[in-house]
Amino acid sequence: MSEVFTGSFTQQEPIPEEGIEAAITVMRSGRLHRYNTAPDELAETVLLEQEFARMVGKKYCLAVASGGYAMATALRAVGVKPGDRVLTNTFTLAPVPGAIAAVGAVPVFVGVTDQLVIDLEDLGAKVDQSDVLLLSHMRGHLADMDALMAICDAAGVTVIEDCAHTMGAAWKGVASGTQGRVGCYSCQTYKHVNSGEGGLFVTDDAVVAARAVILSGSYMLYERHLAGPPAEAFENIRYEMPNISGRMDNLRAAILRPQLRALNEQCARWNARYFEIEKGLRNTPGLTVIERPEEESIVGSSIQFLLTDWSEAAVRDVIARCAQRGVELKWFGGAEPHGFTSRYDSWRYVDAPRMPASDRVLAGIVDMRVPLTFSLEDCALIARIIKAEVGTVYQGGV
Ligand SMILES: *Cc1c(COP(=O)(O)O)cnc(C)c1O
Repeated sequence: MSEVFTGSFTQQEPIPEEGIEAAITVMRSGRLHRYNTAPDELAETVLLEQEFARMVGKKYCLAVASGGYAMATALRAVGVKPGDRVLTNTFTLAPVPGAIAAVGAVPVFVGVTDQLVIDLEDLGAKVDQSDVLLLSHMRGHLADMDALMAICDAAGVTVIEDCAHTMGAAWKGVASGTQGRVGCYSCQTYKHVNSGEGGLFVTDDAVVAARAVILSGSYMLYERHLAGPPAEAFENIRYEMPNISGRMDNLRAAILRPQLRALNEQCARWNARYFEIEKGLRNTPGLTVIERPEEESIVGSSIQFLLTDWSEAAVRDVIARCAQRGVELKWFGGAEPHGFTSRYDSWRYVDAPRMPASDRVLAGIVDMRVPLTFSLEDCALIARIIKAEVGTVYQGGV
């Protein structure tokens, strides 16, 4: 009898009791809207913003309705206009080109390397086509941020970071999301903190922060953003920026604050699971483990490996065999979008030329979630199953 895994790949941990208590307190008060506070009360939303700004070492933080909203707001706030071109990763998820489309701009895709990061050579070749790069740290893989920032700085390109998968991660000890003009994070259930939906936006730029606060729907209550810029920053901006409501509420903020306090420990737990799986996958013929650079402090909330130059039929066989044994893998090479996974050529509102080198990488990317509800034994078992099934298919010829 071959081993079978029976756990769930989509089951997250419960909200910490402290978060549940805080949420109940907010509900009992009835003051869920961030600007609905009692005299001398600081809204949970404001406290969350102050705490997150301090945590990543940024001056300003804004809590919003989603990660996608944070990205679209960042694009608007740095001055992207309808029709502008915005550079972004070819290997990412649909909300990233979607945020560009939300402001009427046009994505220009930059290739992916076999390390699953943005191809800096391709970036160098395309950097003159745009003033903005929406950089997606897809699945937590950080590019060489020093080299990337040097390319963008030299070309006068503003970098906005999509940190949906890198909250808690760092490059050479620098928190992910703090090197670009704006860092955007998601608090959606499958990310590193869970309020169902939600997003965070950080920057050191007072003008960009002020624009974002007004855009998010602050009305003229912007002075109540204690993690926002000083009142002077809003002088003209309050007349110039439209109100495009996308605020976070106090209930979500209450749930998130205790999770942020526990983030470092949670990241260590993710990494223990990630490296257990990685260890089990090593030395599997036909399968390439992604070696993580020393400069990168990862958060292993998902793991990827490559089946490079395998036929579609062979990859599908591996995925089906693993599914039979309870292991849910996703494939970025599929021609049709499926579940949460899609590819740049499925976003047909973008007229994107084919990218053969990236196509070759995407065709080999197999991806798996690593929820914290897995034990280390679960992880070892999952790795054994993948290793065995990849081995069987590989022996048969790929
Ligand atoms: C989830 C996700 C987002 C957007 O987050 P939402 O909060 O769901 O809008 C952005 N980028 C990537 C890579 C994501 O996975």
